[in-house]
Amino acid sequence: MAFRRRELFKRGARRKRAPRPLCSQNFPVVSFPTVPPPSIKSRSLDELSQHLAAQGQPAYRAKQVTDWLYRKRADSFAAMSDLPAPLRAQLAADFTFVRPEVVRVLGSKDTTRKFLFRLADGNLIESVLIPASPALYGETSDRRTACVSTQVGCAYGCKFCASGLDGFTRNLEPDEIIDQLLAIEGESGERIDNIVFMGMGEPLANLANLLRAIRIINAPWGLEIGARHITISTSGLAPQIRKLATEPTQFRLAISLHGATDEVRSQIMPINRKYNLATLLEACDTYVAQKKRLMFEYILIAGVNDSGEQAHLLARHALRLSAKVNLIPYNTVAGLEWSRPSRNRQETFLRILREHGAVATLRREKGHDIAAACGQLRLQTKRAETQSA
Ligand code: SF4
Repeated sequence: MAFRRRELFKRGARRKRAPRPLCSQNFPVVSFPTVPPPSIKSRSLDELSQHLAAQGQPAYRAKQVTDWLYRKRADSFAAMSDLPAPLRAQLAADFTFVRPEVVRVLGSKDTTRKFLFRLADGNLIESVLIPASPALYGETSDRRTACVSTQVGCAYGCKFCASGLDGFTRNLEPDEIIDQLLAIEGESGERIDNIVFMGMGEPLANLANLLRAIRIINAPWGLEIGARHITISTSGLAPQIRKLATEPTQFRLAISLHGATDEVRSQIMPINRKYNLATLLEACDTYVAQKKRLMFEYILIAGVNDSGEQAHLLARHALRLSAKVNLIPYNTVAGLEWSRPSRNRQETFLRILREHGAVATLRREKGHDIAAACGQLRLQTKRAETQSA
C-alpha cells in the first residue's frame, strides 16, 4: 500500500507542470498594493522611543522628534535641523508626514471660523474655531474652542445634521484628528485651549483612533491640552459609553439627547431605535458612577421637542445624572424643514429646567451665517466640485 501511494505520488508529480515565473511573457507582472508607513503623528513618545532605540539611537532622540512636531511645529522631517541627516532620512522612510490642504476658510478673526481641509486621499473634512463663548458651558470663558471631525461623513443620520446626508466614507486616523488642530492654529495664529469632538462623524464609532489622538493631544510632550478641556460628543452609542467609563482620562462627555422620550428622540436620532432612552441612560449611569461628568446637548426644534412636557422629563433625566443641559436653538440646514422656536419659547423651556433645579444654559448660537452647522460646508463644496468635474 505504501509502495502504491509512492507510485501515485511519483506519477502525479510527473504530470504536474513546474510553475511559471510570474514575470514570464505570458503573465502580467502582478504588483500588490503596499501598506503605507504609519504617520509620525499617530505615534506616542513611548512608541517613538522604542522605535528609535531599536535603531541604536540615544534615548533623547524621541523627545527631540516630538518637540519638532508639537512645539516647533515642523512641517517636514527635513526641517528637524538638529537631527542627524541619516536619522531624518530613516524617519522619512519609516513614517509618513503629511499635512491637510486648507481648501477654504470662512469667517474672520473674533468670529467663528470654519475650515475645510482636503486629506491626502482627497476626502474633505470640516473643523471650526469658536472664539470666547460665555454661554457655551454656562460659565465665563475666554477659551478658543476647536470643533473637530472624527470621520469622513457619518452613518448615524441625525435629522438636524448635514454630515450624514452623503453617508459614511471612512474613519479618520489619529494624525488626521490631530492635524486639524495644528492646521487651525497655523492658519489662525491662535492657540487652541478647548476641544469639542462635535464635528463630522460619530466620535465613539471611531473610538480607538479617537483615544489615541486624545492621548497625544493631552500629553505633556504633545499638544498639552488638559483632559477637562476636551469634550467628546456622542449620538448615544451605549456600549461605547460604558467602555469610556473605564478610561482613566477625565475628559468630558456630551450626550446629544434632543428628545426626552423615545417617541420624540426617535424622530430626530435614528440611533434611538437601536439604543433607546432606557439603555442610553443606564449606560450614562455607569459612566457617572465612575465619578465622571457628562452633559446633555439638546437642540430646540420648533414643534418637535420644545414642549413643556419634554422640558419636565429632560429635567428629570438631567437630575438623575447630575448632568448640565446645554440648549441650542436649531441651526437651519438646507433641505430640512425644521425651524428654531421663538426666543420666548426657548426661554420658557430653559425656565422649566431651572425650576426643577437642573443646571441649564441656552447657547447664543454662533456661525449661523457661514454654514457652521455640522457638515454643511463640506457638502456644498463636494457638490460644487462634482458638478464642475
Ligand atoms: S450629529 Fe454627529 S452622529 Fe449625528 S449625523 Fe451628525 S455627525 Fe453623525
